[in-house]
Amino acid sequence: MTRPPLPDAENHAVAGRNHGVRRPPMPSEPLAAPGTELPLVFAAPRRGKPPRHWIDFSVEERVQAVKDAGQPGFRAQQLSKHYFERLDSDPAEWTDLPASAREPLADALFPPLLTPVRSISCDGDTTVKTLWRLHDGSLVESVLMRYPSRATLCVSSQAGCGMACPFCATGQGGLQRNMSTAEIVAQVVDGARRLQRGEIPGGPGRVSNVVFMGMGEPMANYRAVMGAVRTMTNPTPDGLGMSARGITVSTVGLVPRIVDLASEGLPVTLAISLHAPDDELRDELVPINTRWKVDEVLDAAWAYARTTKRRVSIEYIMIRDINDQPERADLLAKVLKRRGDWGWVHVNLIPLNPTPGSKWTASHPRVEAEFVRRLTAHGVPCTVRDTRGREIDGACGQLAASEV
Ligand code: SAH
Repeated sequence: MTRPPLPDAENHAVAGRNHGVRRPPMPSEPLAAPGTELPLVFAAPRRGKPPRHWIDFSVEERVQAVKDAGQPGFRAQQLSKHYFERLDSDPAEWTDLPASAREPLADALFPPLLTPVRSISCDGDTTVKTLWRLHDGSLVESVLMRYPSRATLCVSSQAGCGMACPFCATGQGGLQRNMSTAEIVAQVVDGARRLQRGEIPGGPGRVSNVVFMGMGEPMANYRAVMGAVRTMTNPTPDGLGMSARGITVSTVGLVPRIVDLASEGLPVTLAISLHAPDDELRDELVPINTRWKVDEVLDAAWAYARTTKRRVSIEYIMIRDINDQPERADLLAKVLKRRGDWGWVHVNLIPLNPTPGSKWTASHPRVEAEFVRRLTAHGVPCTVRDTRGREIDGACGQLAASEV
């Protein structure tokens, strides 16, 4: 099977992406002054690679790594048990290993990847957002949200993002670099540890869900993200033993990667950041649409649902007077239902969390209710995202943006 190539570093900028003369057919304000739009960036700048970590190794490589460190191969299982199952971070707790071997193994194979810069919490400390510094100074965020019956960790997959969506704080800062598999999984391990130790109100718990809705475009860092998903879903002690069904990969719609994801045999949930049902508006809200159109993205999403039997989630930010018109609700229902009515899709409406200085705001509650009513009347299942973490700038990238 041939794989359509992604643009390379040389031609990543979509030239002349200036829609100043073409207005959306429905009432809206100009979205960006001509010439102020950011370029789309696919290829991450080359930076010093993060140190290789236990998480990055395959099971065989772990055995080899402990042998290279002068220890018998069976110690690999012991180390994995400590790291992925017991979530022990302190080598002093590895009491089934010789005392003299613990520190050298920790230094060689478990280098620190994430240094906490700042943590803020709300919702009675059941929502915690952490800003991390990576080895090269890049900043990324993760958010832990605990609910009565589940705990969700929202992770970053890139430092920054090259997708340039004008409403998103991360998109405004551009792409710094891809994160490694270990840097992605380490965010989950940290959350799992805090829950296990009862640091989050509600008693000891576990991470039941992971959503790739922090910083970055996961499909633009496909290989590392797949490595992370496999490590999260591998049974303990080789991985975290999570259910793939609890993992959501959210994308602006990199169609070739959606096709790849469908063939991985991993039943993760796919979320598409659609935000507009028509190309004219989506070209501006989600600039990748200039490359893969609404129809192509929805065809790929539909095929994903058919192959994996997983319902696809359509993310739709509600931006006042921009994409929240009743006509757009009707059009959204139409483009989704045209592809079948077998429960393949679900719409998740997200009130816009305005970024600092943004001229946009969230839709009026009455307008939002009408949008929901219309989708529901057309038979499209729809929910409104709860706005957890709003006080702590829960939306993508805002904490890192305030730090820079
Ligand atoms: N790049 C991926 C994942 C990261 S963003 C994607 O775009 O899907 C996760 C979700 O948060 C996306 O649906 C994104 O559109 C949304 N988002 C970004 N900025 C937001 C804001 N200011 N308010 C509300 N949602 C936002």
